[in-house]
Parts: sequence; structure tokens; C-alpha cells
Amino acid sequence: MQVIKNPKQLQDTMLELKKQGKKIGFVPTMGYLHEGHISLIKCAKKENDIVVVSIFVNPLQFGKNEDLGKYPRDFERDKSICEKEGVDYLFYPDYKDMYPESFQTYVEVVELSKGLCGDYRPGHFKGVATVVLKLFNIVCPDNAYFGKKDYQQLKVIQRMVKDLNVPVNVVGCPIVREPDGLAMSSRNTYLSNEERQSATYIYKGLLEGKRLFQSGERDSEKIRQAVIDTIKKAPLLKEIQYVEVVDKDSLKPKKVAESGDVIAVAVYIGNTRLIDNMEL
Ligand code: AMP
Repeated sequence: MQVIKNPKQLQDTMLELKKQGKKIGFVPTMGYLHEGHISLIKCAKKENDIVVVSIFVNPLQFGKNEDLGKYPRDFERDKSICEKEGVDYLFYPDYKDMYPESFQTYVEVVELSKGLCGDYRPGHFKGVATVVLKLFNIVCPDNAYFGKKDYQQLKVIQRMVKDLNVPVNVVGCPIVREPDGLAMSSRNTYLSNEERQSATYIYKGLLEGKRLFQSGERDSEKIRQAVIDTIKKAPLLKEIQYVEVVDKDSLKPKKVAESGDVIAVAVYIGNTRLIDNMEL
């Protein structure tokens, strides 16, 4: 595995590989890798000749009062995971090379960035779309792998790729969970033991919503309420930011739930913001 920090060097390497007819799979991450990331890497390995993973904690997608400073980092550990998984290139750029002083171009996916997390994290999806388009232009992947864990993010990227004719196939991969159902996330490391226990109510809530739907309930408000009631049982719950039943493509809230809709949730357990979702 080769570690490359310089964007131009990686781009030149990728263009050369493409000339040789290699199919390139790409997994963008912010590091502190876990089984969720590894599932994306495994998927990329299966479907491509070359696999590129990027590790970049993108300041552009963090709000002023968010956790950029304390976001968990462990490059050596991440590197050995990537090596073990057979990653070919690990892209680990410095901030100054991604955003030189004169940087002033941004990508905004207007409608899909509203609602859900967009309402609570202004500018977040603009930061995500901008860095992902930059990464796509540097890596030139045929296929790029994203987790459904960050469902709104996946939709934003899929829309951006369509709207801007970006020649990348965006693949959405299933959410990987801990044995007790908690969606894996680098941010789970912030949780104390008690908070970690409390966090299991998020999955329980989603399951309860899905159970209600499967038993024939179609009133979104009732499904929403059942999810909220369950999550409220979490002892260290600080805040429920949203619980919504949304259309899987437009992400608009639904009055009448249908198969394929998504229940999306964001909550604070202690000081840690966690998101999760489940398809109906
Ligand atoms: P992050 O490092 O948190 O920015 O995540 C990098 C990629 O991994 C994104 O596409 C995430 O959606 C994906 N991802 C994170 N957690 C999970 C998970 N539990 N299951 C599946 N994919 C995940």
C-alpha cells in the first residue's frame, strides 16, 4: 500500500492507472476506521482493480461549535487496517493542500441539504459536497462507496453527481451495527459506558417504528411518535433533534408512510450527537 499526501501526485498516479484500463474504487472517510468503513472497503475490493481510501477530517463540514478539534484520529491504526484490507492507495492530504489560501469555490446541493441534519448543521452539506467533488476530481474513481448510515449525505452526493455530470458511480452500502444494534460511528468513542448503554434506545426506537409499520400503521405521525416514545426511555438522552419519516429520494416528510420510506433520527446522548435511520 502506498500512502500519498499530495493531491497532484495522487491524481497523476490515478490518471496513469486509468490509462492502463484499471477500474478504480474509492472510499472517502474521516478516519478512525471501524467495521462500517471496512465494509465499504471490502465492497470496493470486490468490484474494482484498485482501491483508494482517503482520510481527511474536512473542516469545511464542521460548524463553529462542533467537534472538529476533538474528532478522534489515529493515523497509524487506520493505516494498518487499510493495509490488512488490501487497500492499494491511502490518500492522506494536509489541510493546506486541499484548501490553499486562495480557495473560494463551493458546491451546494440546494434542496436535499435542507431538512433533517441540514436544519441543525448549517453549511454542513455544502462542506461535504465540496470536499467530495474535490476528492472525486483527484481520485478519478469509477465507483465510490458511501454508507447509508449518513443517509442524507448519500442523497446529496448522488444528486451532485447527476446534476454536475460527474462520471462516478455512487454506491450506497448497508449500515453496519454493533451486536446490540447501535450504528457504528467514529463518534461512538465519545460515549461513556452509561451513555453507550443509553444509545441502544436509538435502534430500539427505529425497530419500534418499523414494527408498527409492518403491523399495518401508515400514519407517519403515529410511527414518529412511537420512535420518540422509545428513544425517550434512554436514561442519558439530552435532546431529540428530529425523528422524521421521509421519502427515500426527496427526503421530504411523509404524511402517509409507504414501503421504502426512511425513518431518520438525530439525538444527543450526553454531549454526543448520533444519527441513524431505517428503511421501511
Ligand atoms: P466518516 O468517516 O464518518 O465520514 O464515514 C465515511 C464513510 O463511512 C461514509 O460514507 C459513512 O456513511 C460510512 N459509514 C460510517 N459509519 C458507517 C456504518 N456504521 N455503516 C456503514 N457505513 C458507515
